[in-house]
Amino acid sequence: MKRRQFIKKTSLTSAGIAIGASLTNCTNSNKKEISEATGSTVEKTASLPLVIATWNVKNATAAAMEVLEEGGNALDAVEQGCRVEEANEKGQSVGKGGLPDRDGHVTLDACIMNHKGDCGAVVYLKDIKHAVSVARKVMEDTPHVMLAGDGAKQFAISSGFQPEDLLTEASKKAWEDWKVESEYKPIINIENHDTIGMLAIDKNGDISGACTTSGLAYKMAGRVGDSPIIGSGLFVDNEIGACVATGLGEEVVKTVGSFLVVELMRQGKSPQEACEEAIKRIVSKPESNYKDFQVGYIAVNKKGETGSYAIHKGFTMTKCQDGENEALESGFFNKT
Ligand code: ASP
Repeated sequence: MKRRQFIKKTSLTSAGIAIGASLTNCTNSNKKEISEATGSTVEKTASLPLVIATWNVKNATAAAMEVLEEGGNALDAVEQGCRVEEANEKGQSVGKGGLPDRDGHVTLDACIMNHKGDCGAVVYLKDIKHAVSVARKVMEDTPHVMLAGDGAKQFAISSGFQPEDLLTEASKKAWEDWKVESEYKPIINIENHDTIGMLAIDKNGDISGACTTSGLAYKMAGRVGDSPIIGSGLFVDNEIGACVATGLGEEVVKTVGSFLVVELMRQGKSPQEACEEAIKRIVSKPESNYKDFQVGYIAVNKKGETGSYAIHKGFTMTKCQDGENEALESGFFNKT
């Protein structure tokens, strides 16, 4: 199978980014199988299972792959993968240790979607670090798709989650430093960013996705971004593929980014072409100030082909497949 060579295979080392061969690792070419879970026909042109995630989060993709290799499904994999970063206190854009809003409160947004098209989300969740697992509980244990604020926290506690203070000393200090000037400027790129969007295809060929974040640092109290909004931060269609977004959520919401990418794949675009088109929709809006913010998409289609694209340089997609777990440098729009 011939694929567009769209991303360079990289090893991110302490010395910097080493670019090597392009990723063309596809096996099982054109093999068709019936999914045990759904009965749908799966065209297997890539080696399964596979996991991709936004940014350089190899510990998280490794945890997700472990679930898949032990025969777990894609939903369990993306939940377990996201939990790794939610528990990582050093990561300052997700879960415990996330940077707070301008009033000093850490508030989390997350969502999850399975191969059946079911979904769950939490917004403005306080004091519970595993927002992705609460989102899954919303999906599985309630008749709703989204719970917010106090209601989400109350539901989490009644489901057995332990409340805790999510503001670490490091994040508190960063917030106090920010308060000196109190100027909000979106940061274009943060290397080793850890807001997580993760997509997985399990051995049955079924796709699930999840997204979890503490949102923009020093946001207005009550602000919610794209990450918990199904269709914007995440969308999964098990017949077509899936997409997840990162970056300035407002711009993703305005273009319903992840749904757009999946619909473009439905129309025949590759994951790479679909991500590029979705970024184009943002940057080509009249008077777009895209030079001041970053948005990145990653996507996978039913064949296991993947793509990633961002407005600016510096975005990476972690891909775990065939015993390899690597951060791949993404293509980007702004060459100036
Ligand atoms: N998309 C997230 C938000 O706008 C932030 C991020 O991905 O860094 O809340």
